[in-house]
Amino acid sequence: MMEPESLLKPGSTIGIIGGGQLGRMLAIAARQMDYKTIVLDPDPNCPTGQVADGQIVDAYSNRDASRELARSTDVVTYEFENVDADSVSAAAELTPVHPSVSVLRTSQHRWHEKDALLKAGISVAPFRQVESLVDLQNAAVDLGYPLVLKTATQGYDGKGQAIITRAEDVESAYDLLGKRNKELIVEQFVPFQMEISTICARAADGKTATFPPSENIHRNHILDISIVPPRISESVIENARLLAIDVADQLNVVGLISVEMFVTKENELLVNELAPRPHNSGHYTMDGCDTSQFEQLVRVLVGLPIAEPKLHSPTVMVNLLGDLWEDTDGDPDWARALEMPGVSLHLYGKAEARVGRKMGHINVVADTVEDALYIATEARNRAWRRS
Ligand code: AMP
Repeated sequence: MMEPESLLKPGSTIGIIGGGQLGRMLAIAARQMDYKTIVLDPDPNCPTGQVADGQIVDAYSNRDASRELARSTDVVTYEFENVDADSVSAAAELTPVHPSVSVLRTSQHRWHEKDALLKAGISVAPFRQVESLVDLQNAAVDLGYPLVLKTATQGYDGKGQAIITRAEDVESAYDLLGKRNKELIVEQFVPFQMEISTICARAADGKTATFPPSENIHRNHILDISIVPPRISESVIENARLLAIDVADQLNVVGLISVEMFVTKENELLVNELAPRPHNSGHYTMDGCDTSQFEQLVRVLVGLPIAEPKLHSPTVMVNLLGDLWEDTDGDPDWARALEMPGVSLHLYGKAEARVGRKMGHINVVADTVEDALYIATEARNRAWRRS
């Protein structure tokens, strides 16, 4: 695979595999610095295609399409990890792809991900690989209850997960997930005090920089609120940054790596999941930091120096899911939401709102975390016309 030899000048083109909101916000950041973008996505009206300079309308798994993308661009990245790695590999034969296909493959499979983390000496929840009901029964004896059973691939936003609290539930949990998926993983349930994530950027020369970690609150397994800075001690925050740098270095990432972690009741950090791309929990950086996660990724991709991002004020992000559109007949009340101070509205241009679908987010910058949290949730409620 080729390495970036030199700085790509403004006017150069970044290829993006995947046309969702992450690609869209990346394309907007690229445009700010006069870089062009071309996206590969099967939907001609995808969120990224609406703002990119060009689109190849085709499946991510089509190697000819990813080769065409590589030939039309100077560097390629991907905006979600469930893309076909062989297709990304085909692009990498023609133009630099960041993060590398090997990082992509590691993050696509929970077995590989956990093995890579353990090899790097990074703590994770005790787990076992599962390929049969007997494997799961044996793992339950070893690990005890409660447990979380997950599919090894294609899981996101809590899809492909089951909690097992007692021996009687083992078989039904296996039936639920094991029928369709041969490869599963079972983990000890972590009674965490908080979930946090840290995004680390790593440049081709090995220089790293982390964004301030965010405290993440999920609802129905989907990220609901990110709070920055997290309401934990400075030393845990510092450890989270060091841990993310360690992950980026050990995996030799060039690009962004988002590291989701559990903070245990003893203030230890256990890594749950990695994503080699911008992350929903980093959307706060668009308004809360002097450099956003999207600008930082552009800098890495084109070979510009990466920033040392600073949080200028406490910031809270709340996600806007399709539920809000369903409940308001497709017409959320943005005017009322934006009456609140310090509110920034980000919408992704998705034509169809479905329950649980990420349609946009609100960032609120305020003097204190408490104020930002209050204003952000109130603004979202107002969009619902419920005050
Ligand atoms: P994941 O798909 O692995 O990111 O999991 C989605 C969410 O499920 C996490 O953000 C946690 O809230 C929860 N979860 C996943 N694994 C565990 C675990 N081992 N213990 C406790 N909660 C978990």
